[in-house]
Amino acid sequence: MQFTQKSKEHIDSCRFCWMCHHVCPIGNATGLERNTARARALGLSLVARDAIQYSEDIINNVYECTLCGGCMTDCVTGWDPVMFTKEARLGAALDGKLPEYVLTMINNLNEKGNIYGADKNPNIPVFEDKDTLFFLGEDTRAKGCAKNAVELLKKAGVSFALLENEPNSGASMNFLVGAVAETKEMMEQCAKVLSNYKTVICYDPYDADVMLREYKEWGIEVKAEIKTFTSFVAELIKNGALKVKNSGKSYTPQDNPYLARDLEETQPIRDILSACGTVNEMLLNKEHTVLAGQLIMGEYMDDVILKVADARWTNAKNMDVKTLVTESTAEYEYLLRTKPEDIELKKVEEVVLECL
Ligand code: SF4
Ligand code: SF4
Repeated sequence: MQFTQKSKEHIDSCRFCWMCHHVCPIGNATGLERNTARARALGLSLVARDAIQYSEDIINNVYECTLCGGCMTDCVTGWDPVMFTKEARLGAALDGKLPEYVLTMINNLNEKGNIYGADKNPNIPVFEDKDTLFFLGEDTRAKGCAKNAVELLKKAGVSFALLENEPNSGASMNFLVGAVAETKEMMEQCAKVLSNYKTVICYDPYDADVMLREYKEWGIEVKAEIKTFTSFVAELIKNGALKVKNSGKSYTPQDNPYLARDLEETQPIRDILSACGTVNEMLLNKEHTVLAGQLIMGEYMDDVILKVADARWTNAKNMDVKTLVTESTAEYEYLLRTKPEDIELKKVEEVVLECL
């Protein structure tokens, strides 16, 4: 396994450091030293020096990271464990050493268009429109529900297309193996479809992150303007297309890390919730948020991701949260499975629908 010089520098800087261990959602869930940026760097530094083989155990460890960027954001010296973890995944792919669970997901993606191997969801309608595309993404199509989001856009009088054969954004391939030719090809095919529209409303934060950030870094052009679903809904409230009544209820945003850190988008959810009620902040919010669920990793470490969600509920209880509001299908699904009885959980569109 060959690392770039840049990655080697980051690995060597992290391997004896302990400073960000407290922010890792996986490390906090498992309580294991191996689930810290430092331990991952220590293992990879030995691989980079050819002191040990790039073994199954080290590769599994590389897949025990959500790429949420919590460590990177906490790092006062600017080192980036996400970068070297992604490079280590790419290395496993190039060396033909991908774990079986990763290969299964890639096979599913090739056969069914989603890593979960799910058949087409019959509950998702098909709409046509020339200007605006509502892009749901594979997590929601395979594992979630977009009924309320669709209803909300309809109530606002937005005309939009929902595709029968929505392309894959390349987000899951990017997560699993990173910059291989197949990922780029998938992204290019998706960008071609998106470019048929003037506006794309992207429902899933991770798809939005990839479309708005990674496509640019990879030189993939999209002619359409891409907006996150949350920012689009905030605009609908601001321009009066959605007239909400303030319920006076207390809402707490669960900032999604890919939105809050990678895209620096934290205000739209607060604009929406303050129009619908009052905003009660969560412990560790905005760019310091903690991930509360990850569906891709749920495929091979469901028990740990349940603990990740459970830990976020503990934060919520400590902050006297009444209603936790999420923008992400993955976080919603895991938070729902671990929800305490006395706290409500809602997606952002549910909150708005209730206040119309
Ligand atoms: S990311 Fe920064 S704080 Fe975390 S282990 Fe590396 S050097 Fe230390
Ligand atoms: S990216 Fe997230 S999951 Fe991975 S080591 Fe950093 S904090 Fe932990």
